[in-house]
Amino acid sequence: MSAHGGQRINAVDSGETLNLVSDVTKVKTSLSVVKDRLLKGQIFPGCGEECRNCQAAENGCDSLRRGIQQLIDEGCLQFDQARPMKNDVSTPIGSITISGHKFLGCPIPCSVLLTRLEHINTLSKDTEVIGSRDATISGSRNGHTPIMIWYTLQKKGLVGLENEVCKCITNAPYLHQKLRDAGIGTMLNEFSNTVVFERPLDSEFARRWNLAHEGNISHVVVMQHVTIQMLDSFVDEFIQKRAAWFHRGGGKPMCIAEEIGVENCTCISHN
Ligand SMILES: [Zn+2]
Ligand SMILES: [Zn+2]
Repeated sequence: MSAHGGQRINAVDSGETLNLVSDVTKVKTSLSVVKDRLLKGQIFPGCGEECRNCQAAENGCDSLRRGIQQLIDEGCLQFDQARPMKNDVSTPIGSITISGHKFLGCPIPCSVLLTRLEHINTLSKDTEVIGSRDATISGSRNGHTPIMIWYTLQKKGLVGLENEVCKCITNAPYLHQKLRDAGIGTMLNEFSNTVVFERPLDSEFARRWNLAHEGNISHVVVMQHVTIQMLDSFVDEFIQKRAAWFHRGGGKPMCIAEEIGVENCTCISHN
């Protein structure tokens, strides 16, 4: 969709099987929410932010509806029919932790832990000094970190974050597939950006690419700054060096089935 900045916006998550809505009147999401998100993504939704007609109308003005219909027709905007969510709060998940200093990129370590009320109650205690209940893990609160997380969320915005996530979970399978095509044992979990593979035999190579390793496996966390070009040159160099390592040592890929599963291993007995 070159006319609108080259990006495609999915209003609702793009699952494996899409059941797309093709008529703007059938869209369940409030059109003002859609408009807001399009504007944030620098896509013109049919009328501007200050549109008076929109303020008067119940669910967007005629221009907005026409604009969104056009984006749907062009395939630039997709709405999936609502389906039950996979990870809703009724799952047995007990806690979720989000680091502010990793994906979000806050300058000092900070994180948010979401958990069930019962667990929070175990953790918190009444603190006389502050005259209230303390529900923080560290027992004290840093006033800066919530501001940093808030600032980062505001700055990136929902669309910005979605685009970053999209980049990572598109590039990770790219790396995974490239390694697999080269016959290198590799594993990538669904919805993950951590690609696990056989440990390179050369510590110089591992250091240069900043690989984290454990036993016979290494991994790469595909973050926002990682480009396709970087992944290409990494895999190309890996293939080249690997051939030399195996040639020198007369070796074959070691078995890493225990670490990454039989179906992912490329050793002689599992290939
Ligand atoms: Zn309007
Ligand atoms: Zn094996």
